[in-house]
Amino acid sequence: MIHRIQILETRDTFEVQPGESVLEGALRQNVALPHDCQLGGCGSCRLRLVEGSVTYDEYPFGLTPEEEAAGYALACQARPQGDLVVSIAREEACAEPAPHIAVVRGIRPLSADVLHVDLEIPEIDALDYRPGQYLKILGDDGLPRSFSMASVPAGGHVDLHVRRIPGGAFTESTVSRLKAGDELQVELPHGSFYYREKDYRPLLMVATGTGLAPIKSILESLMDDPDCPPVSLYWGMREAGDLYLHDQIQGWGERLYDFQYVPVLSRGASSWTGRRGYVQQVVAEDLADLSEHAIYLCGSPDMIRDAKATFLERGASADHTYSDSFTFQRT
Ligand SMILES: Cc1cc2nc3c(=O)[nH]c(=O)nc-3n(C[C@H](O)[C@H](O)[C@H](O)COP(=O)(O)OP(=O)(O)OC[C@H]3O[C@@H](n4cnc5c(N)ncnc54)[C@H](O)[C@@H]3O)c2cc1C
Repeated sequence: MIHRIQILETRDTFEVQPGESVLEGALRQNVALPHDCQLGGCGSCRLRLVEGSVTYDEYPFGLTPEEEAAGYALACQARPQGDLVVSIAREEACAEPAPHIAVVRGIRPLSADVLHVDLEIPEIDALDYRPGQYLKILGDDGLPRSFSMASVPAGGHVDLHVRRIPGGAFTESTVSRLKAGDELQVELPHGSFYYREKDYRPLLMVATGTGLAPIKSILESLMDDPDCPPVSLYWGMREAGDLYLHDQIQGWGERLYDFQYVPVLSRGASSWTGRRGYVQQVVAEDLADLSEHAIYLCGSPDMIRDAKATFLERGASADHTYSDSFTFQRT
């Protein structure tokens, strides 16, 4: 049976054929819905069901039952059970993604497996993106790879933190050949992971690995801002040597209001005197009540899923939780 979907904000309507997901129906009819991985992992296509219900062939990894109970659905996997009215409200307007040529200015190691990639987009005087958003780089195989901007918008300049994936076509092969002056095809800005100024609450920021990159961009945008709320940053890594910006982060407290930084190691050596375990568990040990926080989660899909479930038990609200899941681009 064909179902009719209406988008509350734009009043666009489209039809979903039997066997199609909400996103597939929208894309087939050229209706723009935010999306990225299309595998139910990244959460970019999260929307709110205003009327109607959906079901899933396989329950998506990027959606918790608590979020579903709060009325959220993932369009890329959701099969409508009838006609729907959905809300795709983004609290703040974002620039539309556009293709550009970026020139590599430099690459240097930040740790054994993370590189700092410094790009310039010469044709742009002032890049328009929200701190926390990401760009796509077109790989040699024609497929895009996503990387979050680690810097605040400043002219045409973009910093990336790129973790080498063993056997990775882009992060290992291409990046190892890149040198200053090389050109890359990029598209930006993408994503709905950015600071919600209107959601003014104490900030809980939780990252694993290079999930720090967009959080760094958000926090840099709040530095020296008299309206900066209190910030707690928990950063999970395996070993101390992985904490590639540890010293720099310790200095952020001078420019952020009431800043607390807690690095957490899952496999710290005996010499590590800091916190140990999984980062989301350490947050749960420290903060019994998360009902007043705006929560930003970024990094591994496992951490994000577990953190959402754990934090919701501690009073966190799906309406005040934002996440960016570094899902695999190619399997
Ligand atoms: C919205 C978003 C933002 C991202 N931002 C960043 C960022 O700022 N910094 C960063 O380092 N990464 C980031 N990632 C992850 C990054 O896009 C992938 O690591 C990258 O696409 C891998 O490309 P590749 O060509 O090297 O690997 P591929 O050749 O595409 O894959 C090689 C193998 O590695 C597996 N694989 C791919 N990605 C990952 C991964 N992330 N972890 C583990 N295994 C993987 C694949 O399944 C495959 O088996 C982000 C991902 C998303 C969705």
